[in-house]
Amino acid sequence: MIGKDNDPLMIEYYEKKIYDQKQLLEISKALNSTLDYKYLIDAILNICLAQLQTLSAAIFLAPEADSNYFELEPSFKGFDLAEDDSGFKIKTDAPLITFLETKLKAMTPDQVEEAMGLSPELEFLRRIGGDLIIPLNAKGKVNGLLLLGEKITMGEWMEEDRDFLTTLSTLAGIAVENSRLYELATVDMMTGLKVHHYFQTKLKEEMERCRKKRANLALLFTDVDNFKKFNDTHGHQAGDQVLIEVARRLIQCAGKHDIAARYGGEEFCLVMPSADLKRGYEMGERLRKAVESSSIPNPNGGPDFQVTLSIGVSEFWTTDRNNKDLIERADKALYEAKHSGKNRTISFRVPVEN
Ligand code: GH3
Ligand code: MG
Ligand code: MG
Repeated sequence: MIGKDNDPLMIEYYEKKIYDQKQLLEISKALNSTLDYKYLIDAILNICLAQLQTLSAAIFLAPEADSNYFELEPSFKGFDLAEDDSGFKIKTDAPLITFLETKLKAMTPDQVEEAMGLSPELEFLRRIGGDLIIPLNAKGKVNGLLLLGEKITMGEWMEEDRDFLTTLSTLAGIAVENSRLYELATVDMMTGLKVHHYFQTKLKEEMERCRKKRANLALLFTDVDNFKKFNDTHGHQAGDQVLIEVARRLIQCAGKHDIAARYGGEEFCLVMPSADLKRGYEMGERLRKAVESSSIPNPNGGPDFQVTLSIGVSEFWTTDRNNKDLIERADKALYEAKHSGKNRTISFRVPVEN
């Protein structure tokens, strides 16, 4: 770009540059403000639709931290896919990925084909309507793919679009990486429930919110009945299978804003923001019945297992000083459930004074 500093074209050029930088700063802030994986993916896709003239955007990511393939995230926008398209896997060591890792920039399918020939992955991306492929990356390694459909104008992708996307792919790649690491650190590998530390941190936050907003909060504690005997009879591995299945029921029963966690060993808990003791009890009963009526497949090939849960429920009191107070009451209610016959839900109520 040649011209004097007061040349209107130059001024327009710099103004556009400043605008773009401001946009990227806003996007960077938005992507860094969340560690929630699904929310993050949605944010990246929406940014593409808002900033680039296209109606279709999709992301391919590794489903687990140690997966050796990328797969389409179900929240894609605009693309019209056949049913089995969504199961297509792109190996992390596929030639397409290795090639994109050497470029780390937005490329059209034609450009990729010209440089490295056709591959099943490239054919797939083209067939579903991909018009621009952008490798997401963190620390120089491709950790996902962003795919955009044709521009609304059917025109070519401009240099500015590509520059924007190259920067976005790094911002998004790092945000995805951070959220992955956060998930690894906060989720119990075996059960998929949140870990103890996360539970305590969230419970503290929720209790503070209750204090400020005078909101309700219910807490459930669950414990598998006669689990020692179960382990002794069927083995520890079968016991693990039971815990995995019970955790699955807990996650299924939990509401969108509830926090299901593994308190320790075979004791799980559920934080229910905005719920009172009654709703906590109803949830407890729903979960208890769901577990009671489930048949859990026996990994040793014998007949299915059946287990029961005892559940204690407490609710936030304005006199609570810390997590311990609320937890103690749920634990007392659980103790009562155990001592009055197990396989039941008990709520902790204010002791009646004589
Ligand atoms: P109760 O009905 O009173 O709860 O009796 P219980 O036998 O279940 O007693 P308790 O709750 O104290 O037993 C906890 C048992 O849970 C002991 C331990 O071996 C088992 N356990 C804890 N964590 C795990 C785990 O990760 N896998 C397996 N298989 N067992 C576990
Ligand atoms: Mg126990
Ligand atoms: Mg137990």
